[in-house]
Amino acid sequence: MPPRTAVFFHAHPDDEALLTAGTMAMLAAEGHRVVLVVATAGERGLADVEPGESLGETRMKELYQSAAALGCARVECLGYGDSGLSPQGGVADERPDNAFIDADTEKAATALADILREEEAGLLTIYDPAGGYGHPDHVQVHRVGKRAAEIAGTPIVLEATVNRDPLLRLLRLAKKVYSFPPEFDLRTFERAYSAGETITHRVNVRRYARQKRAAMAAHASQATGGDTDRTLAVMLKVPGPLFRLVFGTEWYVRRDLPPGTRLRHPFDPGPN
Ligand SMILES: [Zn+2]
Repeated sequence: MPPRTAVFFHAHPDDEALLTAGTMAMLAAEGHRVVLVVATAGERGLADVEPGESLGETRMKELYQSAAALGCARVECLGYGDSGLSPQGGVADERPDNAFIDADTEKAATALADILREEEAGLLTIYDPAGGYGHPDHVQVHRVGKRAAEIAGTPIVLEATVNRDPLLRLLRLAKKVYSFPPEFDLRTFERAYSAGETITHRVNVRRYARQKRAAMAAHASQATGGDTDRTLAVMLKVPGPLFRLVFGTEWYVRRDLPPGTRLRHPFDPGPN
């Protein structure tokens, strides 16, 4: 397979670690050019900030560390404001003037499309239309990313998601053996992401578990501070063997393929 360029579009620093890190490390190891683009610096995430630094600066530093662990060739931030999350999990009332969810879709898509064109990207990853677990910035990643691929003519668009069927099974099992923090709520996972039958790509990334864990560990500010979204903190506590099992696969949906298609590599052209 000749080297190609894959652009991974995410809402906030740390989303790449949770959803696509193994695929990024795999493609980089195969000699492809891997580019990471975030819409925001995630400045409304959890707060464990180094003295004298803003959370946005800390999180971008963490993003560069994560990207280095995964073998990324380029990291870009579109510079939108982190829209944050209301206590109910919806759109926050108070948000910055340049919040990503208030962005003009066409303008944001054009900025991303410029990168796609410049990189002659063969592939772009976005999120499913519901934005995984529903963060408004993640929903916006779907809208903006989809439009950017249209503008740039990017041939393959993959929606990064999670197959919630095995995840739920494993989490229910794990709950019997390990004590998760009290705020860990299984019901979140029952509604989120995608059911197995809708998924077109199952990418085996077990060989890249070490890099994926390093990417997660790079986002230290999100693993220790605050109390609103502890997903990353919980995931980092998962013991090694279970980690490889749970995080050994990454999942994608390619909407232009017939349902039931099962591919293993992001660049696989699929059935004709
Ligand atoms: Zn996010």
